[in-house]
Amino acid sequence: MSQDSVTSSQISVQRVGVIGGGQLAWMMAEAAEKLGIELWVQTPSHTDPAVAITAQTILAPVDDAIATAQLAVHCDVITFENEFVNLPALAHLAQQGTCFRPSLDALRPLLDKYDQRTLMESLGLPTPSFTLKELAPHAESFPVVLKTRRHGYDGQGTFIVHTPAELEATLADLASVPVLLEKFVAFEQELAVMAARSQAGEIVIYPIVETQQENQVCRRVIAPARVNQSTTTLIEKIVRTLLTHLQVVGIFGIEFFLTKDGTVLINEIAPRTHNSGHYTLDACETSQFEQQLRAICGLPLGSTAMTSAGAVMVNLLGYEQSESDYATKRQALAAFPHAHVHWYGKTESRLGRKLGHVTVLLNEADAMQDQAIAIAHQIESLWYSS
Ligand code: ADP
Repeated sequence: MSQDSVTSSQISVQRVGVIGGGQLAWMMAEAAEKLGIELWVQTPSHTDPAVAITAQTILAPVDDAIATAQLAVHCDVITFENEFVNLPALAHLAQQGTCFRPSLDALRPLLDKYDQRTLMESLGLPTPSFTLKELAPHAESFPVVLKTRRHGYDGQGTFIVHTPAELEATLADLASVPVLLEKFVAFEQELAVMAARSQAGEIVIYPIVETQQENQVCRRVIAPARVNQSTTTLIEKIVRTLLTHLQVVGIFGIEFFLTKDGTVLINEIAPRTHNSGHYTLDACETSQFEQQLRAICGLPLGSTAMTSAGAVMVNLLGYEQSESDYATKRQALAAFPHAHVHWYGKTESRLGRKLGHVTVLLNEADAMQDQAIAIAHQIESLWYSS
């Protein structure tokens, strides 16, 4: 059945509850409307982006399982826009019949970075060497990467340390926070891919993209990545193994390191929509947000094909503490040829905070000539100029 032939009468899921009301939930709005699905969110603040687009908001922290129980009363299925959830508390709801997609079992090994690495190792999937902090590295293995096991995002909680003294100081700063240490990977490129799995086990995989980080924060994404067929085949195999093993129903974003000698290592698995998939809103037949809804609502999965020769997505990160809505800058960005500006409606700008993103669609000639980076820099100079 083609996705266009789906009518609202075929949709058994009518209300979706989303735990978390940030920009990822906000970006589900258009797809929800298209599919005739009502969105409810559980989020702590009335200023959170998704509050503006949802049918109902339950104002509560994302790890408040009592609030999730309320959400469950009203919704046919509950999904996630972040992984800062209280799994043991949610398990009681699952036992009483609340439908979580992806399931809590699929999420369980992924909420903690050490557990993620252990899972990958047990599945024989390539991952950087890792250890717990008690097993401190020898001086010759520096630099090393120290990561908080939970609640890391946008590089918060990831520290590249160069000396034993720096390691000791960082560990002291983190005091009692559980951490893991991993080998520093001298990667050539960082790659990412979005993939969705349906209840019936169908898996669809989006094009592999290149992500570029600065200070551990994603600055831009280039779609598709310029990678050879063996890398593509390997990454798709890893994705299928993982999604099938976890019996995922939903969408995942998976990040990789690619080294000079062609080695692929998994960096991180996000059990939800992801920043590296934002380009799909403007550049693919089915956005990652529509795909998430399709997967969790039991609808046929959509095509992951790109609708342009390429695309570059640039994050608009806060560069100051301010309450501005940056209207003039947004106008300038919107006037850029083939640019699509997504502004998350946050009321406060802070250093490094994701305030929006811009996707520029590339024509054949630009994609062929590797113009993506040059275009990204033009967008960045419009945004970060004073
Ligand atoms: P977060 O969960 O905050 O996104 P990540 O674990 O993805 O944190 O790390 C953020 C960035 O830090 C990565 O995209 C990469 O640039 C760098 N990084 C993380 N782990 C390593 C590693 N083992 N070796 C080299 N760089 C790393």
